[in-house]
Amino acid sequence: MITRKPIQTLVRIFATLLIIAGITAFHFFVFNQANSTTIAMTFLLATLGVATGWGLLEAFIASVAGMLCLNFFFLRPIFTFYLADTQNWVTLFVFLVTAVVASQLSTSVKQRALEATRQREEMERLYELSRTLMLVDKQLPTAGQISQRIAQVFGVSGVAVFDRETDQTYRTGAMDVPISDTKLRDSALQATGFHDPEANLSVLPLSLGREPVGSLAIYGASISDTALHAISNLAAIVMERARAEAVATRMEAARQNEAMKSMLLDALAHEFKTPLTSIKAAASSILDAGAPAQKELVAVIEEESDRLDSLVSETIRMARIEAGDLRLERRRQAAVDLIRASLEKLRILLEDRDVRIEAGPDLPEVMADAELVELTIRQLVTNALKYANPESPILIRAVPVDDAVRISVKDFGPGIAPKNLQRIFEKYYRVEHNTRRIPGTGIGLTIARDIVKAHGGEIWVESVLGEGTEFFFTLPVVEKMAEQKR
Ligand code: ADP
Repeated sequence: MITRKPIQTLVRIFATLLIIAGITAFHFFVFNQANSTTIAMTFLLATLGVATGWGLLEAFIASVAGMLCLNFFFLRPIFTFYLADTQNWVTLFVFLVTAVVASQLSTSVKQRALEATRQREEMERLYELSRTLMLVDKQLPTAGQISQRIAQVFGVSGVAVFDRETDQTYRTGAMDVPISDTKLRDSALQATGFHDPEANLSVLPLSLGREPVGSLAIYGASISDTALHAISNLAAIVMERARAEAVATRMEAARQNEAMKSMLLDALAHEFKTPLTSIKAAASSILDAGAPAQKELVAVIEEESDRLDSLVSETIRMARIEAGDLRLERRRQAAVDLIRASLEKLRILLEDRDVRIEAGPDLPEVMADAELVELTIRQLVTNALKYANPESPILIRAVPVDDAVRISVKDFGPGIAPKNLQRIFEKYYRVEHNTRRIPGTGIGLTIARDIVKAHGGEIWVESVLGEGTEFFFTLPVVEKMAEQKR
């Protein structure tokens, strides 16, 4: 669609009349010996020029004005519109018909050339759009990016894309795109579109034959229907593809989750089996023919049963926390007591280990759920035990920092590579080469992080490969908590 501006048309009509007047003046005053056919040919030539350059309306005006001037100034009797000779009537008629037909032909050729150029430009833009749409960022909303790219490539005033899956509309450019979110939603739900020429607005459903995935509104553009349909098809393909990819990612995550769960079960089975084997061995020895019940063996049974008991309780608690059941029962606590109590539960495991506690005498009290914080400390200490050399010491420190107490657990083990540091707090994440050698579930640090965060604290790690690892976490002190409540 080629739109004309009224002022431009008026200027062109005026210029057309000037050209005809100029030719008339030339033949009248300068080249007055030319015969009527030559003069008619000059007018015809001018009319054709006007038709090619400007359009049919101007050409039509040129031919009528030319005819009138020819009649008035050059066909006898001159200075009247009356014609004495019938031959002149024929000349005039032939002039008019030729001028109009030739103008029409010339403008339609011009129109076709313009149309071809426009189609070529549209094709180029569609190609550009398809190229940029292939590069949409998976982290950002697809519909939003589609809207931006259509506006960019086609240079239109405003674009709005409605995504049915998220039930959201993304707008680019003019904020006053004259269509409401509700209408766009309706267009997607009913799979219907419309064109409002007055508002220069086109609305199309986005679908690939099946249920529409959304709808598209383009505002303030002169884009052909074919191109509009191609744009909506491209947008629908990209949205369908994003949807299919999201489903595939979710399925992959579910599959990984399943794999993780079975790994978790394997690890738990391993943890439970170790004390059970000791109990079984001790009990079998006692039962051994004639052997008197040895105190030591009974002691082993008792110890290992205790270990099993605390393992079961700990597992249940961790499973609850993992399921989001994290209720805190906060009380005033001394950080050192929390450290001591958690080590007490690891007594058997720590028997031959060099564990040092460093804490200043005037540490402020913290507001904490003792059981959960002890679980966190135990988690960090167990990791130090698991991953560091049994001969190396473990250092547990508590120091005051700002409005909190910072507790840290340091080991002199293998350390963690920088690339893995970011991920060790993720659920089920285990560093590759450990997974085969040392049993574990990959959820211990996740739970530790959840507990610390629930207390309003921070947890982080510092590690140097080959030198060791130190985990830190903070707990807000009592005064700080009181202040927050106020
Ligand atoms: P798990 O120990 O059961 O694998 P965690 O969530 O406790 O799970 O730890 C995640 C991963 O972080 C471990 O698999 C291990 O690779 C690494 N990691 C944790 N603590 C240490 C540590 N003290 N030294 C070296 N690596 C550690």
